[in-house]
Amino acid sequence: MPGVYIKTYGCQMNERDSEQVSKMLVERGYRMVEAEGEADVILLNTCSVRDMAEQKAIGKMGMLRKLRKTRPHLVLGYLGCMAQARGQSLLQTSPHVDLVVGTQKFHRVADYVHDLLQSRQHALIDDVRRPIVDTDEEPGSQSTIREQELETGQVTAFVSIMQGCNMHCAFCIVPQTRGSERGRPIAEIVAEVRLLAERGVKEVTLLGQIVNLYGRHEFPKVDDKSPFVQLLEAVCAVDGIERVRFTSPHPIGYRDDLIEAFSRLPKLVEHVHLPLQSGSDRILKIMRRGYTAEKFQKLAERIRAARPGMAITSDIIVGFPGETDEDFQKTRDLCEAVSFDNAFVFRYSPRQNTPAATMEAQISEELKEARNQELLDVVNRHVAAKLDALIGTEVEILCEGASRHNTERLSGRSRTNKIVVFEGAPRHIGQIFPVKITRASGSTLYGDPAILE
Ligand code: SF4
Repeated sequence: MPGVYIKTYGCQMNERDSEQVSKMLVERGYRMVEAEGEADVILLNTCSVRDMAEQKAIGKMGMLRKLRKTRPHLVLGYLGCMAQARGQSLLQTSPHVDLVVGTQKFHRVADYVHDLLQSRQHALIDDVRRPIVDTDEEPGSQSTIREQELETGQVTAFVSIMQGCNMHCAFCIVPQTRGSERGRPIAEIVAEVRLLAERGVKEVTLLGQIVNLYGRHEFPKVDDKSPFVQLLEAVCAVDGIERVRFTSPHPIGYRDDLIEAFSRLPKLVEHVHLPLQSGSDRILKIMRRGYTAEKFQKLAERIRAARPGMAITSDIIVGFPGETDEDFQKTRDLCEAVSFDNAFVFRYSPRQNTPAATMEAQISEELKEARNQELLDVVNRHVAAKLDALIGTEVEILCEGASRHNTERLSGRSRTNKIVVFEGAPRHIGQIFPVKITRASGSTLYGDPAILE
């Protein structure tokens, strides 16, 4: 039974795609292995969002070539976003690669791996090598990421509800790598969530590249509610599901019906991700984001007003082409004003075939780094203040299992998506209960074990 090792780069969508590929491979009789050294097939599920992520995967693939010295039959492949964006040209970058499969063809990976292994039995390695490249579009591919395998005791799960994005923000490669927006039907998603609930899952995170605009071109509004709000209602109605999250949204997708849903659907958690990208109207316009700084700030206020204790997190880019000190200062000021619970700060990274990549006035790496540090200081100050404010309070957590950094302790997430570490017993895994917060460090909260029964 050949062994397969998958290494995943990038976001939760990629993690979910890799899970699905693993499931399909296991169904075809393959064994998933934990180490490259045990594998007959090594697949890198790639990310294109930043150049560094692409270079990491290419570098890794270069190293993997050495394994062929002792295992000449080894099959090596690229999957996912970089495979989609670069396609055939990856065979020039990595000439020893056998397989390049794009984002609409994950469901074909098991067939292609089978074909490659079969052909290996009939041909000497590097004698007749016929790499397979498939980056075609495929109607209905958004429905192929479904019905996942769960690990024992798993109580949280990601559910892919759509693929692609039509927004074409000037810096973003996602519309190239994931194609245009395609949503799965609500009934199909709900059936998957129901199955997860029956198998013990208590929290689902709905995934999509522009998740809160799910289905806008495919499914009708009902009672003035968008398809996304209809989906949230249906998912929240599933027995056994206690918490519902979603990522990654766009600020323009937080329309009245969605904000209102937060005040009437208790299973929707008190956490909203609200990618700001820039606090300068001038830069936001060049980025093609479709909102102004003022609109963003008002939106954050409306979201906070919809539910007490709402946490807001964000993504921010520094060093976008042409960003002046004044533009950066506006981003800094808006971060102070909105006071995010957390934010990912990214240095702008040019992506091929995006409008921003060829804009004049690209910013030097030194300046990007300086702005990155300055903004991180602002963000971290607000993160620390939000966490400190929770010390002495009780926070409801869903216990997910052993803490990653100290397996003697347990860890869970609050409804606001904060990690809480505490000393507990195995019986607490998978349970929802309050923990009294005693201290905070970095972005983690620590709880008092005394209140656990
Ligand atoms: S909305 Fe998000 S995924 Fe779509 S183009 Fe903009 S940044 Fe990329």
